[in-house]
Amino acid sequence: MPTNPVLESQLTLASTRENERKQWWKPVTSTEKFLSLFATAAVCVVIALAISLAAVLANSTNSPQFIDADVAKEEALISELPSPRSARFHQMKGREIQIDNADNEVCKTPGCTLAAAELLMNVDESVDPCDDFYKFACGNFEKRTTIPDDRSAVTTFSILSDKLLVQLRQILQEKPSDNEPKPFTLVKNLYKSCMNKNLIEERGLEPMKAIIKELGGWPVLEGDSWDESSFVWYESVYQYRKVGYSVDYFIDFSVTTDLKNSTWRVIDLDQPGLGMPGREYLLKGLEDKVVQAYLNYQIGLATLLGADPQRAKEELTDSVEFEIKLANITMPREERRNASKLYNPMTIRELSEMIPQVPWLDYMNKILEPLHVLTEDERIIVDVPNFFKQLVVLLEQTPARTLANYHLWRATAATVSYMPETARSLQLKYSTVLTGTTERRPRWEECTEGASSSLANAMGSLYVRKFFQEDAKAAAVEMVNDIKETFFEILDTIDWMDEETRLRAKKKAETITTHIAYPEELMQNQKLIDLYKGLELSSDEYLDNALNLTRFGTNYAFGKLREPVNKTDWISHGRPAIVNAFYSSIENSIQFPAGILQGAFFGKNRPTYLNYGAIGWVIGHEITHGFDDQGRTFGPDGNLQDWWEPSTKDNYLERAQCMIQQYGNFSFPELNMNVNGKNTQGENIADNGGIKEAYRAYERWSRRQNPDSNGWDIEKSLPGFSKYNTKQLFWIGAANVWCSKSRPESLKLRILTGAHSPAPFRVRGPFANLPEFSNDFNCPLGSPMNPEKKCAVW
Ligand SMILES: [Zn+2]
Repeated sequence: MPTNPVLESQLTLASTRENERKQWWKPVTSTEKFLSLFATAAVCVVIALAISLAAVLANSTNSPQFIDADVAKEEALISELPSPRSARFHQMKGREIQIDNADNEVCKTPGCTLAAAELLMNVDESVDPCDDFYKFACGNFEKRTTIPDDRSAVTTFSILSDKLLVQLRQILQEKPSDNEPKPFTLVKNLYKSCMNKNLIEERGLEPMKAIIKELGGWPVLEGDSWDESSFVWYESVYQYRKVGYSVDYFIDFSVTTDLKNSTWRVIDLDQPGLGMPGREYLLKGLEDKVVQAYLNYQIGLATLLGADPQRAKEELTDSVEFEIKLANITMPREERRNASKLYNPMTIRELSEMIPQVPWLDYMNKILEPLHVLTEDERIIVDVPNFFKQLVVLLEQTPARTLANYHLWRATAATVSYMPETARSLQLKYSTVLTGTTERRPRWEECTEGASSSLANAMGSLYVRKFFQEDAKAAAVEMVNDIKETFFEILDTIDWMDEETRLRAKKKAETITTHIAYPEELMQNQKLIDLYKGLELSSDEYLDNALNLTRFGTNYAFGKLREPVNKTDWISHGRPAIVNAFYSSIENSIQFPAGILQGAFFGKNRPTYLNYGAIGWVIGHEITHGFDDQGRTFGPDGNLQDWWEPSTKDNYLERAQCMIQQYGNFSFPELNMNVNGKNTQGENIADNGGIKEAYRAYERWSRRQNPDSNGWDIEKSLPGFSKYNTKQLFWIGAANVWCSKSRPESLKLRILTGAHSPAPFRVRGPFANLPEFSNDFNCPLGSPMNPEKKCAVW
């Protein structure tokens, strides 16, 4: 869903670690909002309660620079296609593709007709599939799509998410039944409180002002009466915790799974997330247009709340300059991909010796109050020791007034969504510069999404009961099995692995656990009632609801510290109302929520090759994550460990490097930007492996239906596509998963901060690397979609 980092409804006031977060959960889409939610799920297990939504990315629409190439010779390839159908050929832009196959049987069922219509609307046959398959498969999607003013992009994912949102709204608007279980009332109340715009306008800015006071007062508002001598940064953190705000603005504190002992939890200290979507923006400095907009947003908000404009300008410039320095000492995301580098266990005593400027034991105990009491012997993980060493120096060098201005700015920004339009319009202005959206989303969308992500288990339960088509579950189970089998075959045939590493890889693949659609517990009201026990949400106190949710969620997450991790827990796998899919390294599990088992991804009444190309690719993608640059550093039981023989590791790194370079050369000339090959390598490895596995898994499925089949002859072509054989339709269907159109601002945001490549390259990269694709479309060697130098990891 094309979400907006600033306008995203935040139903709790705790921050996520945003883009800087360690991501042990990996989703398939570009919607990193979900990623942040799931990272939270895995790391803090606040899952049921959601956390503010942070980063966002959108897809893009540009083409990389490939060399043009010679076209002649490939006739043999097409006639050698193992298709039973006789084909005649047609010259198109100097290249031959198969058309008008008289014998090509066409499926004319309503399911096939509908599926074909969707694809036909997107395909642009004026583009040669061997030049740019993304443009061929999605060119008309781009041409016919107008991005609404309130969106930063429109994608296949967002279209399905929008349908889901309409369904959820319908549920939320239903009158509570007489003896409705409380969790259902809670989620409806939350929605109602968010929708009550009149009440929010009536109350005005007073609730915000009161909270700012309670948090110690925002110096820029207080003027000279603010008392510098009484401010100690860590003491203000304790107050934030009490009121229901994030404790993570200077130091990210969490209770997470211990990466080397993944059935247990541990306290984890990390560098904080920043007020902008990533350090990359802040590092450009105050002259940058987006940083300017960020500063102006702060000045506008402070002035609205009563600050003197000149003072606001001066003091908040200081605050942004402090944040730029803070960004500067954070570890770049390129380096954060290495989990071992972030795994620095030590006792609190050792930390105190290393960095004596912070009363660490007291600090952590106050944050954990009244749930746990730690001693100096507590073993904790310090992700970036160097950051902390520099942080204390920076904190000492910065005037208390600036620190307080920054701290209160972050809290105020987190509150804006709950405020009247006067405040929200300032947020929108900043967002326009950041993402290109010029309108807010309709209120109901914001409220539905907020309620759904904050109480995901309750919402998910209602969604599944009302809308989920159960037969999708069985089909998904079958596809997962086929794709796993295919992955084993790939492991068996890989020529760059020694036997020991191969065996360990197979063991890891065998032990992957699968979560499909939703867990049965979600249908048990009592389980839901127990989960939300103690949470109160009223139908007219929107801001109070958010504070209650944060306190409840934080207590839930921190309360887990001494409990073992249940890796198949229904709570963290019980969020079906989303369009996404996940791999978790610490669980070695894959997850396909009910929300993605439909629409463009799956349909029971259409040819199976379309399903393998779409949801099958997604399944392959998630499985392959277990073996990407990050996943490969975790063992079968989810522990961070090196199970690679040195020579095989070298071979792996060489192959990964090929992809880093390949994707790093994909560029957007109009933005003067290239894809970040390093940051996107995990997703690219997953995309490449995933589509290969899906293709072969379909052949497996097909031969199971008819052992005499060549793998592609048991299903028919589609209406309007009679000139394409079933193999070609597999690729067309698969590419359609990534059809998208984005605003340049959101594209820039994605390239700067995202882990996923922009949409066109999620098609062009993997397809160009696969000989099966070139064969099926008869692309000459050297053409953009069949380059001589191909990359493959799996
Ligand atoms: Zn992924």
